[in-house]
Amino acid sequence: MATSTAFTDTNTGETFILDLKTGRLPADSMQLHTYRYMLEQHGNDVTKGMFWTPASTKTDKQSAKQGTATELYDLDNNTYRHVSSMYSQAMKGISQGIFVPHVTALCKGCPVRDACWTVNGKEAYRYPIETTITAPTKEDKEHQ
Ligand code: SF4
Repeated sequence: MATSTAFTDTNTGETFILDLKTGRLPADSMQLHTYRYMLEQHGNDVTKGMFWTPASTKTDKQSAKQGTATELYDLDNNTYRHVSSMYSQAMKGISQGIFVPHVTALCKGCPVRDACWTVNGKEAYRYPIETTITAPTKEDKEHQ
């Protein structure tokens, strides 16, 4: 479990993403890039971020009291340009009714796997191969 917040350093006035972890720190900054993208969708451009965990590091005695933090990552880089383009394309697809299934280890516990063609779900035959988009009906509007 983790929680993420945007903080402003009152000394420098710089805003950064602080992602609080309960266990081990992630090996890369991909999640921070994702948070940056989400914040940007709401008009907040935050270009730095870091992880923190209350877990201590064997080699650092201070961490027993203060937990362990990563460096403050610069998120304004090529990774971000690719991550944001990937999300933008996915959003465009979803708005057109195109969902690209993402097969991972989590498929095992997926509640709709029986309907999913990528895992050869036994009910998958019931669904059309091509995505069909229908215009919203009056009834749909009433339910919104
Ligand atoms: S089984 Fe299909 S729908 Fe479920 S998580 Fe995997 S790819 Fe996604």
